[in-house]
Amino acid sequence: MTTRKTAKMHDAAEGAEALTSPLLAASGFSHAFFTRRGGVSAPPWDTLSFAASVGDDPAAVRENLERAARRLGIPAARIYFLSQVHGVASRALQGDEDRDAVVHEVGDITLSGTPGVGCAVRSADCAPVFLADRRSGAVAAAHSGWRGTVLRVVVEAARALRSLAGPGAELIAAIGPHIEACCFEVGDDVAAELSACSGAGEAAVLRGAPGARPRVDLRRILKAQLAEAGLDAASVDDVRGCTACDPARFFSYRRDGQRSGRLLSAIVAGRTAIG
Ligand SMILES: [Zn+2]
Repeated sequence: MTTRKTAKMHDAAEGAEALTSPLLAASGFSHAFFTRRGGVSAPPWDTLSFAASVGDDPAAVRENLERAARRLGIPAARIYFLSQVHGVASRALQGDEDRDAVVHEVGDITLSGTPGVGCAVRSADCAPVFLADRRSGAVAAAHSGWRGTVLRVVVEAARALRSLAGPGAELIAAIGPHIEACCFEVGDDVAAELSACSGAGEAAVLRGAPGARPRVDLRRILKAQLAEAGLDAASVDDVRGCTACDPARFFSYRRDGQRSGRLLSAIVAGRTAIG
């Protein structure tokens, strides 16, 4: 009994595990691509999951949000995410909105220029992408699965962020873990749509032996789209990880189905973490 209690307290002390972008960190942006480790949800949502809507205990999700908030350095009530639909709608946040109301709003981009507001997306194979303006401290988080990528959601996120931040924005970005080219097999129809949605073109589609399904390099497409939005290669960071073939660290819809966990990725407006 005593041993178990000690172990639990140790877990709590460790907190939510996350991957970060050196580029965003060097510019002072608090952010986290959370892994599935360091939360309290029971299987199959174990352990750091952020969606009660897929069957998880709401109390566990609330505790996971508290842990994420501690890691980000803001109150849990200031971490905002939407009901995502693989579209391009964005939601600008001031920080006085009710998080539990905002989660029912539909959209795939959260953004804010108010220091201390956490802009987040949830994913399980789709790509989380952060954008940040070094000049004003405004930030955006975008959710880009294959449908969102075809709709160029990161280009819309850059446009919305520039509009919010005003003239002279100096944007940087980071692309987080998602289903990478090792695992992202698609049908010919999806491959055709993805090869047509960026300057990367057919180079982002990997074709193996005749008869094998094509695989797609979403990261390459996202970089091409960010380049088209005015972010050169030096302004975009890769935070690597394949959700589908790393079950120890990530949830994957393709691997585990609907009844599985959802990862959180969040970036905080304002430049508070320099150094
Ligand atoms: Zn993989």
